[in-house]
Amino acid sequence: MAMARARKPKSSKRDLTAGFADQTEEHDEDADLPKDEAGRRKIKRQYQDLLGIRIEKLKGRILNRERINKTIEGIYFICVRCTKVCHSLDDGLQEDPQNQNNLCAKCAKTRTAAA
Ligand SMILES: [Zn+2]
Repeated sequence: MAMARARKPKSSKRDLTAGFADQTEEHDEDADLPKDEAGRRKIKRQYQDLLGIRIEKLKGRILNRERINKTIEGIYFICVRCTKVCHSLDDGLQEDPQNQNNLCAKCAKTRTAAA
């Protein structure tokens, strides 16, 4: 039995994309972040599929935060009222500091009107 095994070389994600560097080089770091609405819609659908009925349990919570650039943060969350997976930039977000009752803009408006 061999005592010491050769360590596997660390695989780096960056190597995979190294060949694709082009004029967007300086924004290379977040190249895999979807920056457009279509990309986010896809991710929202993936969340919806992934969570399934757990959406009911997680509604009102934030799922994920991502930096879109230095000043803008994108937030995926489940609206507590419509239980849809939303993104702060596309659907608006009325953030609950307790992370329990986050609302999309549409539902936030409805609630204000009803109050
Ligand atoms: Zn909503």
